[in-house]
Amino acid sequence: MALIVQKFGGTSVGSVEKIQAVARRVIAQHNKGNRMVVVLSAMSGETDRLTALAHAVQPRPSTREMDMLLSTGEQVTIALFTMAVKEAGVDGIALLGDQVSIHTDDVHTKARIKKIDPHLINQHLDEGKIVTIAGFQGVDEKGNITTLGRGGSDTTAVALAAALEADACEIFTDVEGVYTTDPNICTKAQKINRISYDEMLELASLGAKVLDIRAVGLAKRFKVPVHVRSTFTDTIGTWVVEEEKIMESILVSGITYNKNEARITIKKVPDLPGTAARIFLPISDAGILVDMIIQNTRDGQMTDMTFTVLRNDYERAMEIVTEAAREIGADAVTGDQQIAKVSIVGVGMRNNSGIASTMFQILSKEGINMIMVSTSEIKVSCIIDEKYTELAVRALHDAFALDKNNMPAEETN
Ligand code: ADP
Ligand code: ASP
Ligand code: MG
Repeated sequence: MALIVQKFGGTSVGSVEKIQAVARRVIAQHNKGNRMVVVLSAMSGETDRLTALAHAVQPRPSTREMDMLLSTGEQVTIALFTMAVKEAGVDGIALLGDQVSIHTDDVHTKARIKKIDPHLINQHLDEGKIVTIAGFQGVDEKGNITTLGRGGSDTTAVALAAALEADACEIFTDVEGVYTTDPNICTKAQKINRISYDEMLELASLGAKVLDIRAVGLAKRFKVPVHVRSTFTDTIGTWVVEEEKIMESILVSGITYNKNEARITIKKVPDLPGTAARIFLPISDAGILVDMIIQNTRDGQMTDMTFTVLRNDYERAMEIVTEAAREIGADAVTGDQQIAKVSIVGVGMRNNSGIASTMFQILSKEGINMIMVSTSEIKVSCIIDEKYTELAVRALHDAFALDKNNMPAEETN
């Protein structure tokens, strides 16, 4: 008898019929004698719809009330799902984040899980129930509802798997696993059978939204093997595991893109100690994450500084930077929201030179200009004009022969 945590994303529970199909799938595992914990997202499109409603009322909504609103999407699906379970003659219970004590910090809309009390869940499992828990939400010390940030249900699932010491954590979604690039924009994308936590961390942080980055971080920390697979087929998906469990490391294992970034440039910043801190401190105080930063030195006295932030944070970051630029006597602030970050990722890059230059050649052959570049041991990222994103992804996928790297798994279960 195994304890299995299964998470189903928005498209998997996007209609009553799909919810019923998921219930049948979970019940089949339950009937084999497994202890089933289910984590659900809101129906696809629902979190976006709720966000739009909030913005129609208040341009910059209070984050506490935003969490109050956004958390309702998951409440709907867990209730309907448990009704479907009961309709099929199986006992089940739907529980919200605060009812199962998913304790988080109080950073509304971006909360982090601090502790989960497995006691109540185990009690319900002992009573033979299918326990269904709302993804993406928790409760802070004062009893306020919090949410974990977009895509956060994956994190709920992995955190529960760790807290319950589950035998497996399965992330069911609308594709058959983790691919060499987004299969929805590149038809040649290949499913990766096994991937290390570190590579998956890079892919997730660079835009492969198939698995939320915090979920991967938790899985690595608590050594939870994660199986990403399709809701709509029985095919084995992708196992995200420790690196030693992977036989060979591929040079480039994936191409990612992220259209959720924006560029801000401050021109002619006085090149003095302390100016960078004066720019970036108020940005971080506002809870805004800065991604790439580039500083050019010009004639020893003035420098240009360019960095990227998430597109949602662009307006706020521009306000803060414009103010800071005025204070430090910089010349001008410019920005661009129509950019994208395209990256190549692979642990094999550690021991190979020349990968970055190959990437630059491919992009230039397609006439794509690079606006910014950053590298780490296992990735190279380029900021380009957003309109070339798909072209760049497909060209890089071809150039690194990713369509030939992985054989799709043949097993089913
Ligand atoms: P869910 O609603 O199930 O959480 P998401 O939309 O968050 O699903 O994630 C699944 C989507 O991730 C896929 O439909 C696909 O378009 C996208 N995706 C981006 N990069 C990748 C990748 N490398 N492999 C698989 N899917 C990817
Ligand atoms: N419903 C939330 C979202 O759309 C959380 C999730 O689906 O993971 O981002
Ligand atoms: Mg998701």
